[in-house]
Amino acid sequence: MLSSQAVKDLVALAARAAGEFTIDELLRELCTLVAHALDVDGAGVMIGEEEGVRFVHADPAPFVRVEVLQETLQSGPCSDCMRGEGAIVVDDITLDDRWPEFRAAWLGAGVGALIAMPLLARGGAWGALDIYRSEARPWTQEEVEVVSLFAGIAAAYLVMAADRDAAHVAHRSLERAATHDELTGLPGRALLYRLLEHALGLAGRRKRAVAVFFIDLDRFKDVNDAFGHAVGDAVLIEVSSRLVAALRDNDVIARLSGDEFVIFFEDLPRDPAQLEAWVRAVGQRLDHAVSRPMQFAGAEIVISASIGVAVTSEDGDARELVDDADSAMYEAKEVRARFAISSRDCRSSAGSQRHLERELSRCLDRDELRVFYQPIVAADPPHSVVAVEALLRWQHPEHGLLAAHSFIGLAERSGAIGAIGKWVIDRACAQLGSWQRQLGPRAPERVFVNLSPSEISDSSLDAALGAAVDAHGVAPGGLGLEIVEYDFSDSLLAPRLAEHRHRGHPLAVDDFGTGYSSLSRIVDFPVDYAKIDGTFVQGLPQDERRRALVEAIVDVAHKLGLTVIAEGVETEEQVIELTAAGCDLLQGYYLSRPQSADALTSQWTEPVCNQPAPALGTHRPTT
Ligand code: C2E
Ligand code: CA
Ligand code: CA
Repeated sequence: MLSSQAVKDLVALAARAAGEFTIDELLRELCTLVAHALDVDGAGVMIGEEEGVRFVHADPAPFVRVEVLQETLQSGPCSDCMRGEGAIVVDDITLDDRWPEFRAAWLGAGVGALIAMPLLARGGAWGALDIYRSEARPWTQEEVEVVSLFAGIAAAYLVMAADRDAAHVAHRSLERAATHDELTGLPGRALLYRLLEHALGLAGRRKRAVAVFFIDLDRFKDVNDAFGHAVGDAVLIEVSSRLVAALRDNDVIARLSGDEFVIFFEDLPRDPAQLEAWVRAVGQRLDHAVSRPMQFAGAEIVISASIGVAVTSEDGDARELVDDADSAMYEAKEVRARFAISSRDCRSSAGSQRHLERELSRCLDRDELRVFYQPIVAADPPHSVVAVEALLRWQHPEHGLLAAHSFIGLAERSGAIGAIGKWVIDRACAQLGSWQRQLGPRAPERVFVNLSPSEISDSSLDAALGAAVDAHGVAPGGLGLEIVEYDFSDSLLAPRLAEHRHRGHPLAVDDFGTGYSSLSRIVDFPVDYAKIDGTFVQGLPQDERRRALVEAIVDVAHKLGLTVIAEGVETEEQVIELTAAGCDLLQGYYLSRPQSADALTSQWTEPVCNQPAPALGTHRPTT
């Protein structure tokens, strides 16, 4: 029935089919084989898909048009044989009037007779094999059987290929699920470490550096609480696509968990100055990408991120590098700086956190704490001092004078903040009382102290505030309380704050503008001061967006009757910009660094200062 050559060809095809092949390739070969095996002029094959029949191959060229016409019209012998699931055998097409729309095409291609054979498997037709002959004469039984045999083989290959493809898809999606995050489609932790490990190896050989950015969204939990998880998810997807858009093709971004993303960059210069400049520019780009407002559920949501960076020029350990970036991120969060670069030394000191924690619990008894004061001055020249902010310092026996950002977080976590905070309140009131007695009307009107959420929720705070103002003869209005805006949304803390204000303590919203719905929050809560966060100020004067934001904040705050303080003012240009934007008061290194009370007292009592209130020039103080 089949020539020995045809059988050999089929066996060879079967051997190839056991390896990698595409189903279209296989069907093409089968077409050629069947045309050789029979005394025919051409063959074509179509396969059935969801949308109908799809043309795969026909040979020689004139039959291509005929087959494509079947796909275009979704009709013809192919479709009919698949639907009826039986062979259609036409001995003379001129005597058959079932497909008038094909007549012209068949005549044009020189078709005299044809067979359309369904590719049957698993109880259905998977496609059809068309055999064409130019001469119109009856097909023999044997010819129909050979076509049927080839159709059976084609069907078997189709099933195999479909099973194999389904297995591939399942495998790939399993693999993807294991390595990628479902929500954002980004690589997960395991894949991140694998890719980073590889990048570190390359960096070592190529003498290039790698930078890892650890990005954590600030107060993301609030978004979930306020708007629900569906919006929370949408925010995460938006953040991830913004981050992706801010990257080059070969930068790698992963989502570690919840609201944590890690990005690494390879092939960076090793020169420290160049590298740091690059890292800062990218940090700013990522920060901008995340903090652009988003619209969801009819609300404007503004997310900010804290970013920690670790860089290395050695083929070190991927986990260690990510941990370093993570610690740097925590540091950024603690000082609310948005951005911090890790150095290896930080990590070793982080390792001795327990030790530090023990020391911190004893620092009050050992008299190692100090309160520094940073002047808050009028925006208008001559920048008279209106108030001071009390900022905690730790005179550490080994590490020297530590700024608050390096230990406040630890004090909050360990609970030491309670006793420390009360001590600060007492010291601040004592100092204000002393200045007021010594300087009279030239003394600052008030001192602001910072309160952490845990201090506000501590019921003994009331007594401590009362005792401090009484003991040092200060009016309650002389002791202002700075609270980060986040706390205003807390239904437990809000009534306590309202009580303190009722007793006469002015309230200031600290780090204003960093929360995600800052403006709407303070509309509902009575406060007296808004302190515009230093990150806004530091974008001035170049950053148009920040300038617009500062102007908008000032506008709203003024409408609500608040006094606006801009903090983190570092340059003369910023003073000019902020004053033009309508800020009432300014605070920052440019005007005065935080200093000991003694240092300030001696400045203020210098004979040069004979204005009604202590005044500062626009020079940068050296302390
Ligand atoms: P904060 O309330 O936002 O304080 C401002 C921080 O910015 C201070 O850091 C200050 O030294 C620094 N700073 C002032 N002017 C400039 C400037 O022009 N440029 C820059 N880059 N920074 C400037 P510090 O003292 O390390 O305090 C960090 C944070 O620790 C404070 O942030 C505050 O939230 C907290 N903190 C400080 N003292 C206390 C305290 O007694 N109790 C509590 N609970 N928290 C405190
Ligand atoms: Ca503050
Ligand atoms: Ca602040």
